[in-house]
Amino acid sequence: MGIMKEIRCPSCHRDWKAAVGHGRMHGKLDRAVEAFPKELQRKIRMDAGLGDEPLFLFNYRLAVCPECKDIVAVPFLRFLETGWEYVSPCPKCGGKAEVLEEDIPGVCPNCQKAGLEAEETGHWD
Ligand SMILES: [Zn+2]
Ligand SMILES: [Zn+2]
Repeated sequence: MGIMKEIRCPSCHRDWKAAVGHGRMHGKLDRAVEAFPKELQRKIRMDAGLGDEPLFLFNYRLAVCPECKDIVAVPFLRFLETGWEYVSPCPKCGGKAEVLEEDIPGVCPNCQKAGLEAEETGHWD
């Protein structure tokens, strides 16, 4: 089940909503791949090969786009056997989004101050 998050910056008062995690439908590689842009879909399918469906991990992750100064949720996929990873670009500008390892960015991408607050506001799927 996916989680809806709301992230707020107490310094500049911007807020972002992001749907992270994965839905039930993403258990199948075909459906998970559809979350990516067309070119990346082709690459992932080629890398997956024609044989048995490889083991994979898929979820939407929080990422920061330095271009838009935004927090976004981007599809992320990893093939467990090879460790190959795929990250969707920023949904707004198509630039490279930096996926976060933590639950929340260390500093606000808008004003660069620390102290962002995150809240789980619900579930999706
Ligand atoms: Zn801020
Ligand atoms: Zn962007």
